[in-house]
Order: sequence, then C-alpha cells, then structure tokens
Amino acid sequence: DLTHGRILYLEDVSVSFDGFKAINKLSLDIAPGELRCIIGPNGAGKTTMMDIITGKTRPDAGTVYFGSTIDLLRHTEAEIAQMGIGRKFQKPTVFEQLTVFENLELALKTDKGVKASMFFRLRSEQGDRLAHVLHTIHLAGSEHRLAGNLSHGQKQWLEIGMLLMQDPKLLLLDEPVAGMTDEETVRTAELFLTLKGQHSLVVVEHDMSFIRRICEVVTVLCDGSVLAQGTLDEVQSDERVIEVYLGR
Ligand code: ADP
Repeated sequence: DLTHGRILYLEDVSVSFDGFKAINKLSLDIAPGELRCIIGPNGAGKTTMMDIITGKTRPDAGTVYFGSTIDLLRHTEAEIAQMGIGRKFQKPTVFEQLTVFENLELALKTDKGVKASMFFRLRSEQGDRLAHVLHTIHLAGSEHRLAGNLSHGQKQWLEIGMLLMQDPKLLLLDEPVAGMTDEETVRTAELFLTLKGQHSLVVVEHDMSFIRRICEVVTVLCDGSVLAQGTLDEVQSDERVIEVYLGR
C-alpha cells in the first residue's frame, strides 16, 4: 500500500494546458501532522498543484490520494472541500462588515448561506472550538471587533481561523505571510507551529526567513515537477536550485 501513513499522496501527476505541460510527472507525499513548504520560481506549477489537490483542475494522468483510501480524482471540488481539505488563497476574504466572532461562526455553516447562519446557535462543543480557534489565531479578546477594522495580518489569521472551524485534516495555504509586517510574520510562524501535529499543512511561500522558522522539509518545484527536496539549507545550496532562481 503506497499511500500508507500519508495524508496526501501524488504520483506521476501531469496536466497540460494547450499542449504546455504545467505539471509534469509530479510526485509528492505528505505525512499526517507534517508542515511542508513548497517553493519554486514563477510558473513552476505551484498553483496548479494546489488546484489539482482541491479538484479545481483535473490532471491528465497520475494518482492523487487523500489518506490511504480516498482517490481524490473521483471527487468533485465541492466534495473535496467537505472532506477536510481547507484552502486559503493569498488575499484574505473575510466578511468585513461582520465581527471576528460572526466570521468564525459563519465558517461552521458554509453551505447554508449567510442569512440562515445568523439565527444558528452554537452548540457547546462548537462554542469551545470557537474559543480555542480565537486563541490560536491570536484574536482572543478581539472577537467583537469588525473584521474590516483588523490589520492585514489579523485578517489573514481570521481566515485561517475560519478554515480551522471546520477542523480540516489538511490545510493548503498560498503565500500566507505576503504583505505582513515582520512582527505579524513571526506570530504567523508561531501559529503554524501550533497547528502542525494536529493538522497537515502545505504552504506555498517565497519568504525564506518565514520558511526557516516553520519548515523541516522544503520541496522545490520547477517545470511542473520536484527539482529538489530537503532542509532549507540543503535546497538553498543545491546547484540546480540556485540555477533556476538565478539563472533564468
Ligand atoms: P506558479 O504558481 O508556480 O507560479 P502556475 O501553476 O500558476 O505556477 O503555472 C504553471 C504554468 O502553467 C505557467 O506556465 C502558467 O502560465 C501555466 N498555466 C497555469 N494555469 C493555466 C491555464 N488555466 N491555462 C493555460 N496555462 C496555464
């Protein structure tokens, strides 16, 4: 069983757009509770890889498994979102006119629509979860602030909190510290280290100081497949990696 002990397993995945191979025999596996960083030059295929995992893009070939039993290629994007894979895009998308608390509450009711959820009362375990998430995302005490009045970094944390309300097994995050202050970046690293172990995380990021704080294993994508993998020091001293970053 190739997928044993993995939360996410990709093997020989390929996808072409108009004859151009955006993903070319990509293989990747992520262990439960792992925090993996993905780096690579523009056009390496990072976004397309995330799109394949979430079911937004269908590969032409290959295997994509979630855990050891779920073949993600047999599921729709909506089904994949429901099975515990949360994705966060680069720009925060919180409800600015609602409070922090209301945003988190809404995240429990994503499929029921905004209006219905306003009248929905939290069950006690959901209340406990909300309090726990507020603490994790550094917003305990700020639950009654309007999301629109939060800093850029706090909005990013709130959106991560909205994903956490669903207790995802796997979180996919696209450039989570882009646009953050240095202090917010450090606190985001703390947040990710808290999440690790309880969730698996795949983080696409360019900020090497952030990566150094959070990641044991870094995967370098280039031309749609894995160019190198190892610690940040290992991949940064790899000549092929240096060439793709500097030589193009
Ligand atoms: P990255 O996120 O690493 O910058 P992408 O996954 O966005 O890379 O893109 C990989 C390659 O695939 C790029 O050359 C991009 O132009 C191409 N590509 C991505 N999506 C599409 C699409 N929908 N149609 C055509 N080409 C695409």
